[in-house]
Amino acid sequence: MQVNGTLMNSYFYCKRQCYLLGNRLNLQDDSEHVKIGREIHKQLAEGKKNTEIVIDNIRLDELTKDYAVEIKKSDAGAEGARWQLLFYLSILKSKGIVRKGKLEFLEVHENGKKTEIIELTRKKEKELKQHIEEIEALLESNEVPECTCKNSCDRCSYYEYCSI
Ligand code: SF4
Repeated sequence: MQVNGTLMNSYFYCKRQCYLLGNRLNLQDDSEHVKIGREIHKQLAEGKKNTEIVIDNIRLDELTKDYAVEIKKSDAGAEGARWQLLFYLSILKSKGIVRKGKLEFLEVHENGKKTEIIELTRKKEKELKQHIEEIEALLESNEVPECTCKNSCDRCSYYEYCSI
């Protein structure tokens, strides 16, 4: 499977999850967390233009004249979300669309969301290329990475599989 934004994100969250997703070992995830995420995206998209933009193998939450926007429910997997957005910026750049990235975390503060602005610098581009190669090597491996269960594992669609 070609590296995409979801794989980039999960690589930073859990290598085992990345491996399972990347090798198409999909399990139905109808958990409450997934339903909430879907509903948030649906409500945000209502009444907005330029939402859910699909280009090649990426799906952007929004594209404005200045920003590619990625919306997350919380900042629990912030590092993965940053690299996911950097990956999107790189795909856009390859199409001649140069933007900064805007990450919006909806459930960070009681009084509102937290926003981060991200730029695809040369240094980040180099690091991104390296991460893409690391993910490709991971997916080609014959060994499933070990389960490194953490508190947030109950949000993962592989939770039951990993709990066996
Ligand atoms: S349940 Fe936890 S250890 Fe297993 S794949 Fe998901 S995040 Fe990784």
